[in-house]
Amino acid sequence: SFTSVQGYTLHEILGKGSFGQVFKATKNNKVYAIKMIDKPLIRKKNLQKYVNNEVKVMRELKNQNTVRLYEAFEDKDILYLVMEYCNQGTLFNYILKNKPEETECVRIFVQILKGFIEIHEKHILHRDLKPSNIFIKDGVFKIADFGLAKPKALGSSYCGTSYFMAPEILQKKLHDYKVDLWSMGVILFFMIFREYPFKNSAKLLDEIQQKTNPYFDPYKCLKHPKNTQCSPNLLELFKRIFVIDPTKRISFKELYDTDLFSGYFSA
Ligand code: ATP
Ligand code: MG
Ligand code: MG
Repeated sequence: SFTSVQGYTLHEILGKGSFGQVFKATKNNKVYAIKMIDKPLIRKKNLQKYVNNEVKVMRELKNQNTVRLYEAFEDKDILYLVMEYCNQGTLFNYILKNKPEETECVRIFVQILKGFIEIHEKHILHRDLKPSNIFIKDGVFKIADFGLAKPKALGSSYCGTSYFMAPEILQKKLHDYKVDLWSMGVILFFMIFREYPFKNSAKLLDEIQQKTNPYFDPYKCLKHPKNTQCSPNLLELFKRIFVIDPTKRISFKELYDTDLFSGYFSA
């Protein structure tokens, strides 16, 4: 019902979230994505804290591989987040459409990994990392959706099923940076095989509870007939990421220092 706000001209809708809509917008010949969040709905659901967090976190992040927030303003009923416009959709759609080969999957993985350098410098956990929350702009992959805007992100009261959630979140334990690393592993697995390593969270929890040793067997999911083609390098990587005990899981630091990826980049 309106076509402009604070100098931004609004164009077509790009997508819908749980608490509002995202529009393409222009100002001074530059293109943006503006997320409009329904304030009364946020108040009704008592989620102010998550929305404030989304703004606070996004403001701090300024690297190539995270979606930039340029400004945020509000009127009586709407909070506007003016973001970098990502013109090539989500990683989820990209995977299904392009079926990337292992080399490309690893290169995308490394881009996302780079985004995490600054995220960790600023002491942020994402906790909702999945292909539909990674956007693409001119071939660059960018981490998005920092809201923790859903109760599941609390860790103590997660709801729904997520194929990407670390076991310590599913078990409602205290968690740290390692939860995002687990999700990264699931994302890489999903990119390569286009299926999930752990079919559902209930089953994953059962498996954890039945195990006496803290290491989950990642090879089990790789023995599936569809999942035979995967380099030894990546098998090794999955083995080091899908470790139930987060203290024994590979760290981001170790991942940055590993030479597992060097063969995927030409000199
Ligand atoms: P919620 O905020 O409740 O988690 P959501 O995750 O679906 O909902 P967003 O991911 O923030 O909400 O946005 C909804 C959709 O709008 C996205 O899936 C995407 O298609 C589009 N969109 C959001 N931000 C951008 C952006 N910066 N550039 C291009 N498209 C975007
Ligand atoms: Mg999202
Ligand atoms: Mg969101």
